Amino acid sequence: MENVALGHTTKLRCNPRDRWVFSDKTAHPAIIDTKTFDLAQSKRRQPQTGKPKHHHTKRRYPLKGTLWCGICKRKMHTHHSGQTTYYRCRVREQDQPAADPKHPRSVHIREDLVLPELNKWLNLVLAPDRITERLTATLQAPEMDRRETKQVGPVLSSEEIAALVQKTDDLRTATLHADPREAERLYERVGLRMSYSSGDNEVQAEVRFTPDYARYPDVTVHVQDCFVLP
Ligand SMILES: [Zn+2]
Repeated sequence: MENVALGHTTKLRCNPRDRWVFSDKTAHPAIIDTKTFDLAQSKRRQPQTGKPKHHHTKRRYPLKGTLWCGICKRKMHTHHSGQTTYYRCRVREQDQPAADPKHPRSVHIREDLVLPELNKWLNLVLAPDRITERLTATLQAPEMDRRETKQVGPVLSSEEIAALVQKTDDLRTATLHADPREAERLYERVGLRMSYSSGDNEVQAEVRFTPDYARYPDVTVHVQDCFVLP
């Protein structure tokens, strides 16, 4: 059961949206437990014998599986032209008559424009002071308030909250310094999902994760917000 829902909005010139619907739910797996996660990681690290050794030249797509088209709600797919990586949503010719007339033939977003803005946003919303404030407000609220807001779970001490804030900050810091391969794993770890709106160049972004599976499996950090691309 979810303990904390940390939805909040910052003043970033974005318009709040009511369209938080993603059509391809299975493509973005729910948060997995630590055991499964560790297993997946160890599998990834195993040497891949018998396959050509092109790993050093293989393109990485750190945002793969995290971007949805804000118009038609379908997942955006990787595409590259020269050295530039894009994520795009295309309307095929045969689908054109049924498609939303506001949907261009191709909606695309440049990876090198999104990544720095995304990291700025993560740096802001996962900053220790913000997370401390939100966790304290929800996990230390008096019982009466908690009933009103339908909060469940234990009341945590300040030390316990500080430990969760530290775990969150470790993830934030790691994400900011990650190479593309590591970034892909970390974005998955924090449950990143983004919806791109080409008209106003806005990205609606969401993270949802459990900072400490082992000790507090019921405490989920959930931030839903937006940022504007340059
Ligand atoms: Zn689309």
